[in-house]
Amino acid sequence: MLKIADILGESVVDGKGLRTVIFFQGCPRHCEGCHNEKLLPFEGGKSYTPEMLAKEIIAKMTPIHKVITFSGGDPLAQAAELLQVIKILRREKPNLNIWTYTGYLFEEVQHYPVLKEIDVLVDGPFILSQRDISLPFRGSANQRIIDLPKTFATGVIQELRL
Ligand code: SF4
Repeated sequence: MLKIADILGESVVDGKGLRTVIFFQGCPRHCEGCHNEKLLPFEGGKSYTPEMLAKEIIAKMTPIHKVITFSGGDPLAQAAELLQVIKILRREKPNLNIWTYTGYLFEEVQHYPVLKEIDVLVDGPFILSQRDISLPFRGSANQRIIDLPKTFATGVIQELRL
């Protein structure tokens, strides 16, 4: 079962475009200054099977939505279940663009099979001393916006410059 805190129909701050955002419940880190502390415990949120969650995401998406973001909490703390959700979504919506936020570094999770199904990974913990509100789609300068298909194709981390 997945633990989900909320699903937002429309957001412009969680990645490029008007995105449907799924907030995962639970994060193993406790970054100082975390933007969403109530999502840190794994006990809260609502439980979903992968099928239930995929169905609810699709129901929230309007015809103009071809983009979604998994945020949290940390979606990669539930990586195996996330993979099942994405496989269903990709079957139903083949051209879906998927961003995922994580407190892990790419180097720590690059072997996770789910990464092969994600378009963009915003990686790394929030570091208060590197906070920069002028940066698009991330809270601190250490976080990278990584184009995963290009990164896996070239073997070198490919950051998006936005
Ligand atoms: S990784 Fe993100 S959600 Fe987790 S504690 Fe850090 S800022 Fe909060």
